[in-house]
Amino acid sequence: MNDERKYEFSWDLLGDLELGRPNLGPQTRLEVYRLMQFCFRDVLERTYGSDEADRLFYEAGYLAGRHFYANLMGPVQDQNQFVAKLQYLLKELKMGILRIEEMDIAQGRLVVTVSEDLDCSGLPMRDHEFCTYDEGFIAALMESFTERKFVVKEVDCWCTGDRTCRFSAQVAP
Ligand SMILES: [Zn+2]
Repeated sequence: MNDERKYEFSWDLLGDLELGRPNLGPQTRLEVYRLMQFCFRDVLERTYGSDEADRLFYEAGYLAGRHFYANLMGPVQDQNQFVAKLQYLLKELKMGILRIEEMDIAQGRLVVTVSEDLDCSGLPMRDHEFCTYDEGFIAALMESFTERKFVVKEVDCWCTGDRTCRFSAQVAP
């Protein structure tokens, strides 16, 4: 791989939307986001196989979560503030409606649901969970907050018949 990166992510790549979109503003239609995400997935899967495509999506979600926390969430004083800020931001940015089902920071355990999720709500049924990007995203948020490594698995998804996505996070062994 080249030492020179072409596409290293930084928050300023999100751009100055007031300057750049004086008429259209910061909103777009969700179909456009999904069109890009699912075409990306298709190409990644065809190029690298399903498992690697999932891993790459998880990793991209993780990277996004790290930047999201650093730029929008931190500093966070305690668990209550972590939950309150995250709930507020996810709703404000129309990413989803977050509920905490279980949170035990000492034991390194978290179970959350995200309803009306950006990635999967309303999709046709599948025989597998879909939200690998969100898994990585949540792992990064937990890691940023606790400074411990987390592994996150989606255990229920809109696509598997539940009407919400449920994520189980566990501190890495
Ligand atoms: Zn899902």
